[in-house]
Amino acid sequence: MLLFKPDPVLSNKLNPAQNFQQPSEDQSAALTPSEQTMSSSSDDGALHEKCGVFGILDRGSAGLGHTLYYGLYALQHRGQESCGMAVYDNHQLRLHKEMGLVNQVFNEHLLDSLTGQVGIGHTRYSTTGDSNLGNAQPVVVRTPFGAMTLAHNGNLINTEMLREALTKQGLVGHGDSDSHLMALYINLMLSRGAGLKDAVKQALEVCQGAFSIVIATGDTLIAARDRHGLRPFCMGRTAKGALVVASETCALDIVNATYERDIMPGEILVAELDSYYAGLHHEGRGYTESFFLEGNKTENLCVFELVYFARPDSMIHGHSVYNYRMNLGRRLAQIHPVDADIVVPVPDSGNVAAVGYSRESGIPYVEGLIKNRYVGRTFISPTHELREKGIQLKLNPLRDVLKDKRAIVVDDSVVRGNTSRKIVKMLRECGVKEIHFRISSAQVTHPCFYGIDMSNRDELIANQMEDLEAIRQTLDVDTLAYLSVEDLVNVAGYEAPCTACFSGHYPAGTPKDYQSTLINTLT
Ligand code: SF4
Repeated sequence: MLLFKPDPVLSNKLNPAQNFQQPSEDQSAALTPSEQTMSSSSDDGALHEKCGVFGILDRGSAGLGHTLYYGLYALQHRGQESCGMAVYDNHQLRLHKEMGLVNQVFNEHLLDSLTGQVGIGHTRYSTTGDSNLGNAQPVVVRTPFGAMTLAHNGNLINTEMLREALTKQGLVGHGDSDSHLMALYINLMLSRGAGLKDAVKQALEVCQGAFSIVIATGDTLIAARDRHGLRPFCMGRTAKGALVVASETCALDIVNATYERDIMPGEILVAELDSYYAGLHHEGRGYTESFFLEGNKTENLCVFELVYFARPDSMIHGHSVYNYRMNLGRRLAQIHPVDADIVVPVPDSGNVAAVGYSRESGIPYVEGLIKNRYVGRTFISPTHELREKGIQLKLNPLRDVLKDKRAIVVDDSVVRGNTSRKIVKMLRECGVKEIHFRISSAQVTHPCFYGIDMSNRDELIANQMEDLEAIRQTLDVDTLAYLSVEDLVNVAGYEAPCTACFSGHYPAGTPKDYQSTLINTLT
């Protein structure tokens, strides 16, 4: 664990000093090269969310580290390669981050030492090549007024512009992530005289793409979301009034915080310890302040969050993700019915949609594929032999239940098709008579630039194959049907969720749009 000595208070009331210093990152410098680059296995067939974030402002807690732990534990599905937390105890920062799962990285003893009043945490997944501790979060920068920490979910699309602009200022980030660059940019604004709120706003004005971020200083918690609200982000309060922000409401539930609302597109929500608790004391409600980024704000939440990434027990826009998936399954049954004996989900991603299909069609729901709950992502490279076993490690078919049946198999998506092929082969080998594959989303045809790991367009099965019939043949199923983009939008119930990977319409643009954009604020 890194311990930062108490620094002068970083707040909006102070006028930052002029002697701005190059900020320095932390642990990675002390690591050996082998420690810095752990292996990752992004070939497990699943799509990966890049991160989950959590933040808390709580003056009354004796165990802030424990609360953060539970919050991160609930967000583990959003990132399994590294995790970390930063807590401030009377302005003294304690930071701990490592490769591994939340329950591998933190133990009782460590959590006991992570006391404080303001804290943020992060779980991270990264693609092959940048899976190292140097990119684990929260990131920390030393501002002229103390250490500031930042954790980020999403992906910026003008990272190279930011890097170029910061490089020109002689501020090359120690890491190479967009999150580091955001923190450096805020720090630069601070060094030029802005207060914290203005510095955050000025920096985020130039950040394009997807971000749901938490920022912490010794006495302030900030939650900010991009203009399009691409990644989910919510806030709530505990019974004692503490403020909690998180990627998903399932992380509020586990710390007994009540979901209040989503952080709005373009919103920067600020809670400062003294004024928050003054509000709580006088009016029974902690005081927060919200201000907004300039320009158009639109609600373009990633529809894939609703289809697959978010936990089904989370609420988004005040609605249950579980119900959304159930309705997708019902819609599938309405527009793509088929005569069959059983409905079988591909666990866990197809579970809820399969229930919806079964209820709508009246065909019995059967758990024909049993998932090994103890297989997860690790940062230890599996042996070649284990890799070869592939899907068998994760799923085992119930032969007696499946044999000679006409099965409707429901999954949330087909991306590269490799996993689907293996599952179909497995089902055929145990005697399933007919396989009717039903997908509770549309064909994935485009890459995601907003924080989901599927950037290679050529790998997408929908682009490799000529048409639906060709995909059906290569998957070796009897029938194959998807929902349409319109179905996804209609069931979502709000106007314009991001559907870019299905439709090619990118609500926040693509990296190409920013190739020649200059960042004027730094000239
Ligand atoms: Fe989500 Fe797809 Fe949009 Fe990426 S491109 S944010 S995965 S809907």
